[in-house]
Amino acid sequence: MRGLVWLLPWLLVAEVRILTDFPNASAGQVTQVSPLHFRVGVKGQADQDGRNRQANWYFFRVSGVPKGAEILIDLVDLPGEYNYQPNRGAVTKDTRPYWKEGKKGGWQEARGDYDPAEPRWRLRFRPKKGEFLVAHIPPYTQANLRMLRKETQPVVEQIGRSVGGRPIELWTFDRSGGNKAAPVVWLMLRQHAWEAGTSWAGEGLLRKLGTGIVWKVLPWCDPDGVAEGGVRFNKFGYDLNRNWDAPNDAALRPEILAQKAAIEDWLKEGKKVDFFLTLHNTETGEYLEGPADSTLGQSLYSKLKEETLFDPDRPYLSRMAVERTGRANVIQWLWKTHQVPAFLMELRIAASPRRQARPTAESWREFGAQLAGQIAAALLAK
Ligand SMILES: [Zn+2]
Repeated sequence: MRGLVWLLPWLLVAEVRILTDFPNASAGQVTQVSPLHFRVGVKGQADQDGRNRQANWYFFRVSGVPKGAEILIDLVDLPGEYNYQPNRGAVTKDTRPYWKEGKKGGWQEARGDYDPAEPRWRLRFRPKKGEFLVAHIPPYTQANLRMLRKETQPVVEQIGRSVGGRPIELWTFDRSGGNKAAPVVWLMLRQHAWEAGTSWAGEGLLRKLGTGIVWKVLPWCDPDGVAEGGVRFNKFGYDLNRNWDAPNDAALRPEILAQKAAIEDWLKEGKKVDFFLTLHNTETGEYLEGPADSTLGQSLYSKLKEETLFDPDRPYLSRMAVERTGRANVIQWLWKTHQVPAFLMELRIAASPRRQARPTAESWREFGAQLAGQIAAALLAK
């Protein structure tokens, strides 16, 4: 009899599920501690040599929580490595997880505590309808991108395919009005799959592209990674913002090859690139980097700092020298090989010290729109 009484609560909650059966989803090992307490590993991803493990993309659905019950989820397996240096993980006290209930609800920060000892996040949820989503930051998926393409109507070229056979597209918005001397801007978004914030910013940017400029956009640089819930490497473990100076390899790194060829074909036709920018996310850093003596980079940095949501944590910086062959990022390679004025911007996902708030899909879009305006102003003032 005692056994049956003990079993009853188990039966009532036996249907709790942690699910990753949808695009962009990811979770590692799941362990049930008690009926309403689960440990969910962050899957993480390592590079082609099994190094540089980064564990900062998780996106899963929890279903079957009994009405009115609280469920505990511990996010674990966080430690990793960045540029060969071990760390406690990219998921920290500064990056409280997000959750979302129902189709219409927005993403909100979850309740819970970070324990640096393990390290882990212990999250507490009391879903109204027994079901909810959890993610590192508000996801931006292929479905979002499809809607953006429909809305903004770019000229679309398929420039290649990913390892997994997914198309890689180049979008063109020719707003030059037929002016052959119009400035040309190249933008690169989502080189790293986890960095959904760059897609939210990109969306705001593409909705506000100024006239007098030709805009070339690589909107989705790691289609496999986003679809499959990856972090920063392609299917063979190659970091898509390193390896730009590694040998061209259509089998191992088709994504980089396609993007490189698209830019080089443009240059070979005698066309120019006045400004190249790749957008990234970090946990707590925010900055702009590019060629050391670039007045364009320095003035854009100042304008962004003064007039937009950009809240840099360091001055304009330059790291255009490649530390080790095979580790060049896209801007180092473009600058060294083609003298293209190429820039990289990092946008933090933790709270901005100036705003005392974490970015949201809306604030990223707002910043993207501001960025479009500042890029256009800088180039048209030249
Ligand atoms: Zn990145």
